[in-house]
Amino acid sequence: MNLTCAKCGGPIERTPGPGRAPTYCGDLCKRLIEYELRRLDRRLATYELEQREIKVNAEDWPDENDRQKRLRALRRWIRQDEDRLRELIGAGRNNQNDPA
Ligand SMILES: [Zn+2]
Repeated sequence: MNLTCAKCGGPIERTPGPGRAPTYCGDLCKRLIEYELRRLDRRLATYELEQREIKVNAEDWPDENDRQKRLRALRRWIRQDEDRLRELIGAGRNNQNDPA
């Protein structure tokens, strides 16, 4: 399998031995991935909180279409960020042929 770095897209040197292959090519990308994971985590928490508030406080939204539109946007952003999280932590690397 051809492994590429989840951060820069460069090739990953495969180190022999047991355990899962890393998702990064070197120490710099490893650190950048850690920062990105923290950013994603914070952003997801914000999205999820807003999503919950919108669901609970429907009466705050005079226009139901606006409310649904915002919920759809939040769901899409959450899905995108979760996909990126999976990519960064190296889960689902063998599922790249799955239909999206
Ligand atoms: Zn890299």
